[in-house]
This record gives sequence, structure tokens and C-alpha cells, in this order.
Amino acid sequence: NLEKRKMPRYNGLDRYHLLEKMGDGAFSIVYKALDLQTGEKVAVKVVRKLEVNNTQKDRHLGQAARKEKKTSQRSTILKEVAIMRQLKHDNIVELKEFIESLDHYFIVLELLPGGELFHQIVRLTYFSEDLSRHVITQVANAVQYLHDEVGVIHRDIKPENLLFYPIDHIPSVPGAPIRPGEEESKVDEGQFRPGIGSGGIGVIKLADFGLSKVVWDTNTMTPCGTVGYTAPEIVKDQRYSKSVDMWALGCVLYTILCGFPPFYDESIQDLTEKVSKGQYTFLSPWWDDISDSAKDLVSHLLTVNPEDRYSIGEFLNHPWIKNTPVNLNTAP
Ligand code: ADP
Ligand code: MG
Repeated sequence: NLEKRKMPRYNGLDRYHLLEKMGDGAFSIVYKALDLQTGEKVAVKVVRKLEVNNTQKDRHLGQAARKEKKTSQRSTILKEVAIMRQLKHDNIVELKEFIESLDHYFIVLELLPGGELFHQIVRLTYFSEDLSRHVITQVANAVQYLHDEVGVIHRDIKPENLLFYPIDHIPSVPGAPIRPGEEESKVDEGQFRPGIGSGGIGVIKLADFGLSKVVWDTNTMTPCGTVGYTAPEIVKDQRYSKSVDMWALGCVLYTILCGFPPFYDESIQDLTEKVSKGQYTFLSPWWDDISDSAKDLVSHLLTVNPEDRYSIGEFLNHPWIKNTPVNLNTAP
């Protein structure tokens, strides 16, 4: 078949049979693949090693600079893999294997067959409050594990890096209520439980640890470096660095609730200005029917001063998060 013929073959990846392309990055391509040893489907992130000898752009670089460029790509990937190796959580994509060949790095991951949450926002326009809670709570559980148990900051939380398992039986698609003023079939409003009104979104997992960073020593649960000799600004810095994930969580929550991001501008300069001042609004009519409790939670995340921003603990304790609908856990 045509799809199969188009699949590239990589040296060093004999254990896996590539099936189809799932995603594309600047330096990486992600494929759905078959693990020929176990028969299970996986995702393989293929990262091409930077060509240091032939590219036009690098010709002006000296030997040392070219070597430096290659080393830094290598250490970035090894760091991503080292961090992922430590992680074991239901809402974090599992690393299965790491392979390095002459020309590539291969990061073999648990396959999330639903793909990106991003596409579900596009498909459903926006999520009901119950569906938003179902989604964001899972992301928050991953963040709590990272921040409070492992000492890792993700630093790139966004809908493209949130992947999901679909629910097998979707009663009716799409599962989103309509926007005020728009016509579309209304589905299961107020009747949310996983599988119903969920738009087919089951378990959510956080992916892409390419920008993540360790802030705490995982064995001693203390800041990295010699215990007791860490300067206060370092300790503070590490505390606030976690708050970047909380801001991002706020942006994701805002976006899934209404269908567009809190900060947007065609001009990068104006966008930067808006973000740095925290200039966003609960735009009418899209936010008119969204509860005050949800708005309160969003506003505690989209707080410019990181000291005042909610931590993951405060987030999970907010009434909007704790307000589980009565029928959420009842059997279908
Ligand atoms: P990048 O660093 O290039 O952003 P990612 O790890 O985010 O790399 O992967 C890029 C894209 O590939 C994701 O946004 C997603 O669409 C897809 N992808 C990555 N990992 C998986 C996975 N485990 N299951 C399914 N799709 C995935
Ligand atoms: Mg990504």
C-alpha cells in the first residue's frame, strides 16, 4: 500500500515497523510504529542529528563551534530522555526506549492514539465546564507529580503537548455545547461523564519534555547542589520557576473553556506587551455563560506576579476543581 511505501527506513530501528507519520517538529518527526517484539503500537520520535559538516549555514563555523553545536543537541536530547526515565505517572507519556544511531536519535514512547488535545479544541470549538474540568484535572495531576514529587518543571505546557486516549464508544459527536448565538446540535449538556459529552476524550497525558528542567534533587528532595549551601535567590528562583507551568495551565484552561487563547495579537510586539502586563479579558459573549468560579480560578493562574499566582496545590484545592458532578463516576 502507498502509505507503507512512503515510510522511510532508518538504520538502528529494526525493532520497529513505521506505520504512519503523526507529528512534525523543527528537528523531529513522530511516527506511529509497530513494536515487532511485542506486537504493540508505539510512537517513535525521530530526531535527525544536526549535520555539522555539510550545511551551507555552518560553513563559516570553526571546528570548535561545529563540535559545540553537535554536543549541545546531544546533551539536550539526553536530558529530555534522562528526565523522562524518572517519570512514572498515569497522566505522563511513558518513555519506552532510547536508541542512538549514527545519524539519528530515536525516542520510543507509549502511543497516545487520540493525538493532540489541540485538534479536539478545533473540532469541538470549545469544551463544556465539565469536560474542561475532566481535562484540566488530569493535566494538573501530572503537574502536581512533577512539581511536588519529582522536582521537574515542564516549561512547555500547551494543547499541542497534551495527548489523549479516545473513549471507544462516543454516543454522539461532536460533544460540545454550542456557543451563544450559534446553531449546532446540543449534546448532553449537564450530563457529563467520561464517554458522554466528553467529545471522545478519555485519559489525557502530558508529552514533550524537550524544554523541561530538574529543580530538586530527586533523592534528597532538596534543591540541587550541596545541601545547606544553596543561596536564597536560587531556592527562590526554583520556587518561582514552577509558576511558569501554572501560567501555562491557566492559558490552557482559558482556551478550552472558550475556544480561543487569553493572549493574542498579530504583532509579536503587541502580544509580548499584553502578556507582560497580563492584559486579557473574559470576552463577551463567549464568557457570559461560564461560571464565576471558573473565572476565579483562571484569574488566579493568569496573575502576573509569580508570588501571587496559584501553586499546583492551591489549584487542585479550588472549589471549581473539587466540584465533581454527581454522575461523573457513576457507571454508564
Ligand atoms: P517537539 O519537540 O517536536 O514538539 P513532541 O514530543 O511534542 O516534539 O512531538 C511532536 C508531535 O508529535 C506532538 O505534538 C504530537 O502531535 C505527536 N506525538 C508526540 N508524541 C506522541 C505520542 N506518544 N503519541 C501520539 N502522538 C505523539
Ligand atoms: Mg511539542
